[in-house]
Amino acid sequence: MQKEGDGMFNDANEIKLPPAFSGPGQLILYTRYGDPREPGWANKWIINWHVQQLHPWFPQEEIQIHKHFWPLLQDAFFELERSGLHTEIRTFDHCHHVAHLYESPVLSVHSWGAAIDLNAADNPKGTTGTWSADFNKVMTKNGIYCGQNWQNKEPMHFAMVEGE
Ligand SMILES: [Zn+2]
Repeated sequence: MQKEGDGMFNDANEIKLPPAFSGPGQLILYTRYGDPREPGWANKWIINWHVQQLHPWFPQEEIQIHKHFWPLLQDAFFELERSGLHTEIRTFDHCHHVAHLYESPVLSVHSWGAAIDLNAADNPKGTTGTWSADFNKVMTKNGIYCGQNWQNKEPMHFAMVEGE
């Protein structure tokens, strides 16, 4: 592959990405779904998922979440239930919430409803977290990334893309 002197690459290098979308997960979400701060965005992409209809053990009756994320969680929850691992989930703390990362211009992937925080009190930033290896295996298998595996650990955080 030719890189030096290749017009296509030079053009691509000149594209300036707004800082709000300058994380790997943010870029994917922005490319697929656009800017979550735009009027009407949530009406198009965020749904009310009545979690307790099929998962009565879940600590919140319904949550607002991206319409492409909830089916992944639903499959993961069914699988967790089959092995009794769902009992590790005790609190729901956060899902769709438009906000920047701490002291950063970058939007949190929660802004797209693409992440959920669980058991936040037991899984604060910078800790290894309390999830069992089996629990995390089920989440990963269903296409859900856990912040437990990051360099700057955030084990409460599960998302449909990798990154904060
Ligand atoms: Zn989070």
